[in-house]
Amino acid sequence: MNTKAVTSREFAVQVVRTLTNAGHIAYWSGGCVRDQLIGRIPKDYDVATNATPEQVRDIFGHRRTLPIGQSFGVITVLGSKPAAPIEVATFRRESSYSDGRHPDEVAFTDAREDAQRRDFTINGLFYDPLTDALHDFIGGEEDIRRGIVRAIGDPAERIAEDKLRMLRAIRFAATFGFQLESHCLETIRRCASQIHVVSAERITVEMQRMLSHGHRATAVDLLVKSQLLAEILPESPLVFGDEKAQAAVLSSIGQLPEGASFSQAISVLLNDRPGRALRDVVEQLATRWKLANAERREVTGLCVAIPTIVEATKQTWPLAQRALTRTDPHRLIQVARVIAAANQLDPSGVDFCDREVKKPREQWDPVPLLDGNQLSELGIPAGPRVGRLLASLRDAQLLGDVQTAQEARKWIQAKVKSD
Ligand code: ATP
Ligand code: MG
Repeated sequence: MNTKAVTSREFAVQVVRTLTNAGHIAYWSGGCVRDQLIGRIPKDYDVATNATPEQVRDIFGHRRTLPIGQSFGVITVLGSKPAAPIEVATFRRESSYSDGRHPDEVAFTDAREDAQRRDFTINGLFYDPLTDALHDFIGGEEDIRRGIVRAIGDPAERIAEDKLRMLRAIRFAATFGFQLESHCLETIRRCASQIHVVSAERITVEMQRMLSHGHRATAVDLLVKSQLLAEILPESPLVFGDEKAQAAVLSSIGQLPEGASFSQAISVLLNDRPGRALRDVVEQLATRWKLANAERREVTGLCVAIPTIVEATKQTWPLAQRALTRTDPHRLIQVARVIAAANQLDPSGVDFCDREVKKPREQWDPVPLLDGNQLSELGIPAGPRVGRLLASLRDAQLLGDVQTAQEARKWIQAKVKSD
């Protein structure tokens, strides 16, 4: 096989060519075929073939293949950079799913039957990049053209086999702007309470993908309609709140900027109004969803600081300034802005903070004038008093009352005397 630097797409063609030249059937499969028909650049390419995993390893060589998924018929074929590795899956049928998560056994078969085990018609297509032929055994092309997410076969059976498919259905519908076929939606609603058999990590990955996408409002709407939100995020006022609270959250989620982060979206889903006490709620959610520490901190930072930003002009600047330095200030302002708007609150506090953080950082967050060591040089022994003095000095600095290190020393000495 040619080993010069190629793109992932070129490499995916080469893999099919190599398998075909060795006398096997090989197609691109699943998500990459769908993405190409929709007109999106595939995130990755998967290949399906009638070669067995052992044959795939022999054809590409053991050095260039990884057998990580061999037990369920998948061999990873490594390309040279920048081409991403490609998963080559032997056509398979999956028999039963007694636990609602994993197939019990794997048997190799042909493309037609392999299409049947896939989740949605839009994901069940094969494409031969050598002949430009589409192999559609399940009506996927038409559903892509019409923009419909439809289960392959009976949605109740397909969801019973693998409950994660409920979230995948919603993600595909929302991110592609497709309709979720009504039987499928109805079945998800009936089965929503069973989502908990899926691991927290997999639920979280789906939620991250839906909520960091520009179409997050559609995803949230479908999560509400399917009753999955009540199972996954019962802490949201969308689940327990009155109509006014629900309307506020929906309005905020719809107004977040397209590129908003997962943490911003979660903060908005938890806040119908500024000032809800959420520290414990966020902790509980972060533990359940196994969020990374950075995300946990960001969601907490945003939730705790929202009221301070909304009220910034009614309080002292150092209060808002500290809130803005504890988390990403631009993200915090975006979240505070949409929540204020959803509650018809005066935006002047948010506008004020926005103007401040657009200035060079050293203007609104200047380097502190003194530190603990410098205080000890002034004869103030280490202890809680040092922290208090430094915090008061910081306030004075942020308010413009003290501007140089020399002034700061004098200010401290006067403060110590008067205490
Ligand atoms: P994306 O990669 O954009 O999330 P995808 O459809 O490619 O979408 P993958 O998880 O990469 O999703 O899976 C590749 C293909 O494997 C899918 O297109 C589908 O045919 C099949 N597949 C994946 N997960 C499931 C599942 N839970 N049930 C049935 N088929 C699945
Ligand atoms: Mg994929």
